[in-house]
Amino acid sequence: MNFTSKLPDVGTTIFTVMSQLATEHQAINLGQGFPDFDPDQALLDLVTQAMQDGYNQYPPMAGVLALRQQISTKVQTLYGHGYDPDTEITVTSGASEALMASILAFVQQGDEVVIIEPFYDLYIPAIQLAGGKPVIVPMLAPTLDTPSYRVDWQRVREAITSKTRMLILNFPHNPTCINLTADDLDKLEDIVKETGILLLSDEVYEHLVFDGQPHQSLASRPLLAAHAIIVSSFGKTYSATGWKIGYCCAPKAISTEIRKVHQFMVFTVTSPMQVALAGYMKNERAYAGLSAFYQEKRDRLANGLASTRFVPMHSQGTFFLLADYSAVSDLPEAEFARWMTVEHGVGVIPVSAFYRTPDAPESNHKLIRFCFAKRDDTLDAAIEKLVRI
Ligand code: PMP
Ligand code: GLN
Repeated sequence: MNFTSKLPDVGTTIFTVMSQLATEHQAINLGQGFPDFDPDQALLDLVTQAMQDGYNQYPPMAGVLALRQQISTKVQTLYGHGYDPDTEITVTSGASEALMASILAFVQQGDEVVIIEPFYDLYIPAIQLAGGKPVIVPMLAPTLDTPSYRVDWQRVREAITSKTRMLILNFPHNPTCINLTADDLDKLEDIVKETGILLLSDEVYEHLVFDGQPHQSLASRPLLAAHAIIVSSFGKTYSATGWKIGYCCAPKAISTEIRKVHQFMVFTVTSPMQVALAGYMKNERAYAGLSAFYQEKRDRLANGLASTRFVPMHSQGTFFLLADYSAVSDLPEAEFARWMTVEHGVGVIPVSAFYRTPDAPESNHKLIRFCFAKRDDTLDAAIEKLVRI
């Protein structure tokens, strides 16, 4: 057969590769980001109930209305922006589909899209499928004085030209675990005022922020909200990554274009889960307690790492934590992550996988990513193994 790959540089995602390796070697999997515990029983019961109640056929293309209404109420309550459930909120097959549909809807042949490195693995292939060209702005690396990654907004501004169609953001950030501050939003507002750029804001970890800091959603600033597609995921919020349900909020004209793609990509997403989520979200405690729950797990892992030769970095948000392994090995990150999985029984993700050229020396900082969305006994068992390395 005669064909040319549209994505010649793309292999299987690092998350799949490392999870398979962990399974093969019976390692404790702290790699791919998913909880090893079930969603709340009350939510599971609501799904069963919805199936029994006959919610088993196609729901509306944009999602079950009651769920869109709940999303609208939540965003209004938390971030003060009102999205119209009829025209501005679309329920999607995970955040992944919302991101892909948004990129396909707006990026045209030859358009540039600015992304910040390190970045989540979906963005570049999606931009390429749309015929666009990724323009990469590196984050400022941690230093002794400022031991955390930072965004250089000046460089972001400089990367935006007349060819730029979109700027993709992802905070709380996977994998660096940093959040935006109010000052970051000020700088972003300046950029939007000057350029009018369309923003695609991947906020899947919006409820996983720590140390009492609020999540700085782009929805909290009217100017940013007017220019933004805001994406979130029920997988992260309700510990149900396997349900693949997410959503995006955007002004009507933008949502209309996204729905044109969504209706032909998947048309709509699973009905009983949507009905159940709509019922479950009426209780805001379901997400209000998440930060405290995960902060405890973050601290459990960080404290455990203190008795190993790994040096944890501070995690401001997400359910991940980065650790430096330079006291353990000189191996590049991908090899080190394999070695840990195969020889020491703990699966992790190399941070270099979130760079354009993972094997390049400048993408390797002797950092691995741990997922702490795990039962306490899983974390303790992993720490026991890590202490021996
Ligand atoms: N964006 C980021 C930053 C993620 O970490 C993930 C992964 N889990 C996704 C998007 C995809 O989310 P979903 O599983 O809801 O498609
Ligand atoms: N987002 C998850 C992570 O960063 C993985 C999701 C996936 O495997 N596609 O680990």
